[in-house]
Amino acid sequence: MTNHLHDALVATIDGRQTPFLLRPGAPDLSGADFLAMAARFAHVLVGHGVTPGARVVVQAPKTVEMVALYLAVLKAGGVFLPLNTAYTREEVGYFVADAEPALIVCDPGRAAEMAGLAADVGAALVTLGADGAGSLTADLARRPAAFDTVPRGPDDLAALLYTSGTTGRSKGAMMSHDNLLSNARALVDLWQITADDILIHALPIFHTHGLFVALNTALLAGARVRFMPAFDAAAIVEALPVSTLLMGVPTFYTRLLAEPGLSRAQAARMRLFISGSAPLLPETHAAFAARTGHRILERYGMTETNMITSNPCDGERRAGTVGLPLPGVEIRLADPRTGAPTPQGEIGMIEVRGPNVFKGYWRMPERTAAEMRPDGFFVTGDLGQIGAGGYLSIVGRARDLIITGGLNVYPREIEEVLNRVEGVAESAVFGVPDADFGEAIVAAIVPDAGARPDPGALAAAVAARLARFKHPRRYEIVEALPRNAMGKVQKAVLREMFAAPRDAG
Ligand code: AMP
Repeated sequence: MTNHLHDALVATIDGRQTPFLLRPGAPDLSGADFLAMAARFAHVLVGHGVTPGARVVVQAPKTVEMVALYLAVLKAGGVFLPLNTAYTREEVGYFVADAEPALIVCDPGRAAEMAGLAADVGAALVTLGADGAGSLTADLARRPAAFDTVPRGPDDLAALLYTSGTTGRSKGAMMSHDNLLSNARALVDLWQITADDILIHALPIFHTHGLFVALNTALLAGARVRFMPAFDAAAIVEALPVSTLLMGVPTFYTRLLAEPGLSRAQAARMRLFISGSAPLLPETHAAFAARTGHRILERYGMTETNMITSNPCDGERRAGTVGLPLPGVEIRLADPRTGAPTPQGEIGMIEVRGPNVFKGYWRMPERTAAEMRPDGFFVTGDLGQIGAGGYLSIVGRARDLIITGGLNVYPREIEEVLNRVEGVAESAVFGVPDADFGEAIVAAIVPDAGARPDPGALAAAVAARLARFKHPRRYEIVEALPRNAMGKVQKAVLREMFAAPRDAG
């Protein structure tokens, strides 16, 4: 028998002495050496009691060892559970109690903190640091470089990814082997990734974007991966002439635009720039095209569903949209309350069905049922609109919808007007509690460097274009918008920051 996801991922590197992982300041790692490292790790995992179906929690710095560990967990038939390195002991405690892992892998500097959590659920604890050192790798060389991969089928779990959920409890999304493999295959085809590609990898690997979208596709296609420990705009600009592909969040692109070295000549060898995880402003798309000659390809997905839509490689890449459903994936828009189909062209809740959609929330059957329609469509929680040619635009999260005086206001509509005002770099519009209206609209404005946009001019721009009930009650100038590790604006943080009107004095 075979191991569905693992076998497909390793087919391109098995036995290859050619480079797979390119590391700044360290020798390239060949496919064969990388796979041997994964096999050795698999022996360690089994030694620590990782049996088929067992969860392996990994909260460790981004290293090639951690990538090999992901593959090792698949080899051993386990379930990979990566955690954001920023999570505190208390947060990790929730995930550990919920997932009951057999093994926890953490940074050596945090081992003392985590020991009690591991003991509580009877898990083993090992360490892996930023330099690849730790008890996990201590006697790795003595382990066999081959491992009998545990058979796993398409519906077996490969990973448990906790949603970043800013409201309520974080939920563990159960990802099967085929959820991940079918999506990676669709993306490789759509984005035309081949063994000639060199992917710049600067994303974190505890999230679906850096872990599955980037690494699964690169492995499947046999592409090389330029593995960067973290995002560094100057290092990326320097790497452009010797790479072909970049996957990033929108903040990557705004920061790259701030690099003087970013030019058409520098990016001439690049084949494709991809953006996702948060909305890419049409202004960023246009500025990047003017500077480099490349039209960024924007795609849309979420932890529970992998990737859902993408702009095409060959066809029109339409700024401000996330493109068309991936082959094999269906989307529809529905009234969030009744589930009735939304009339053509109107805003509705995005629902999705396909082999990409997860198996449900870990030990939360009632939450899973609440977010699944009887005919198998998953309710994403995102509001969207389908335009000409079937291109989808994301209007925002349903929970960020503002209801003021009983009327629905979509923040994005106001943000788009504000972003075009002279001196505005970006904006975020949100609702705060209001005794009269239920919610009142507030706009947080990030000025361009050195600019000081006048609230009067902002209000005039909005008044010229939008109905009165959509006008923000207040404009708050901020230095930067609060963002999480994936570049998503945290509106819940803004709502909290600006809940009470500020003193006029
Ligand atoms: P996560 O589960 O952390 O990957 O977050 C998924 C959410 O990110 C989606 O439900 C969307 O709200 C948002 N998202 C992802 N890609 C895009 C995009 N291209 N444009 C706008 N929002 C996006």
